[in-house]
Amino acid sequence: MTSSSFNLSSLAPEYIRAIAPYQGGKPISELAREMGLNEADIVKLASNENPLGISPKAQMAIDEAVYDVARYPDGNCFALREAVAKKFSVANKQIVFGNGSNDILELSARAFLHVGCEAIYSQHAFAVYPLVTQAVGATGVVVPALNYAHDLDGFLHAITPKTRLIFIANPNNPTGTLIAKETLKAFLKKVPSNVLVVLDEAYDEYLSAAHKSEAISWLSEFDNLIISRTFSKAYGLAGLRIGFGLMHADVADMLNRVRQPFNVNSIAQAAAIASLADDDFVERSYALNQAGMVQLTQGLSKLGLEYIPSSANFVSFLVDNAATVNQRLLQNGVIVRPIANYDMPDYLRVSIGLFSENARFLTVLEDIINDNK
Ligand SMILES: *Cc1c(COP(=O)(O)O)cnc(C)c1O
Repeated sequence: MTSSSFNLSSLAPEYIRAIAPYQGGKPISELAREMGLNEADIVKLASNENPLGISPKAQMAIDEAVYDVARYPDGNCFALREAVAKKFSVANKQIVFGNGSNDILELSARAFLHVGCEAIYSQHAFAVYPLVTQAVGATGVVVPALNYAHDLDGFLHAITPKTRLIFIANPNNPTGTLIAKETLKAFLKKVPSNVLVVLDEAYDEYLSAAHKSEAISWLSEFDNLIISRTFSKAYGLAGLRIGFGLMHADVADMLNRVRQPFNVNSIAQAAAIASLADDDFVERSYALNQAGMVQLTQGLSKLGLEYIPSSANFVSFLVDNAATVNQRLLQNGVIVRPIANYDMPDYLRVSIGLFSENARFLTVLEDIINDNK
C-alpha cells in the first residue's frame, strides 16, 4: 500500500467496518506457544467439541476419501443427501448442505436480508447471528433475554414490516437454555408467514428422548421454517466443516442460489455419511455428556458457584473476576470460554469433556478460587 490516497473507509461500507470479529475458543497449539506448555498437558473445554472424537466408521470413511482429493467434491452432495433424506424423512429438495451449519445461517442471511431489513435474535444468543446480519448490511434487533432464556413474546413484539428473519438457537449457546416444544410451536403459529424463522438445533443430539426436537415434522405446516443441524458437535466433525438445513423446497432453492458450488468438501461428505450410520457413537456421546454434566455441575456447586442449568454439552457458570480466573485457568493449561462478548462478562462457559478432563478443570478451578480467598 504505497498510495497515500488509499482509504479503506471509503472502500468498505460502514456496516462492514462496524463488525466485531468472531472470537473462537483458543486453539491448544496457540496456548502451548503462549505459555510454553506441552500440547499434551492442555485440556481444551472451550468449543463444545466431542471429547470422544469421531465415530470409528467416520474415521474409516475419511481414510478412504483422502485418496480422492484431486477431484472436486460432488457439489450436490448426492449420496449424503440420500442419507439425510432417509434418516430425517424429508425430501431431497428440502435439504441444503453447508460448510458447517454456520454456512446455513449465512446463506439464510444472504438470500433473505439486505440493507433496510431486520433480523431478530435474543440477547446472549449465538454470536454468528449478528455477524451474518451485519455482513449484508441488515439491522439486528436484539430481544432482551428473560432469565438468560429466549423471550418469545418479546420476539413477537419486535416483529415489524421490515423483519425478514428470526434466529433461534434451541438449546441456546452459551446459556444452554431450552425452549419447550409446545412453546416453540405456539410461537411459530404466531409468526407471520412472510417472516422466516431459522431454528438452530446444533445441540439436538444432546437432548434426552423426551426433549428432542420435533421441528422437522412441523416443516409441512410452516413454509417459513429453516432448521439447521450440524455434524460439528455430537458427531465430532467440527474440523471438517459440515452441516445442513432442512426447509421448504422453494426456500432451499433460494439458499442454493447463493451457495458456493463446492461448499462442502469430499472428505466431509464421506465422513458425514458414515457418521449418520453410527447411532451407537452418538448414543455413547450422549451418555458421556449426561454423566459429565452431573460431574461438572456437582463440582461447581461444591465450589459454591452458580451455573445456568444447561440442556447442551457445556455449562456457563458465574464466578468473581471471570477474566482473571480465565487467565489463571489458561496458565494452568485449561482452556474454557470467556463470554463477555455475549453480554455475560461475569460468566465462563465450560464444555463437558472426558471424566479426567472435567476433573482436571475442577481441581485447577478450586485452587484458583482458594488462592483468591
Ligand atoms: C457450535 C454451534 C453451531 C455449529 O456451527 P458449525 O458451523 O456447524 O460448526 C451452530 N449453532 C450454534 C448455536 C452453535 O453453538
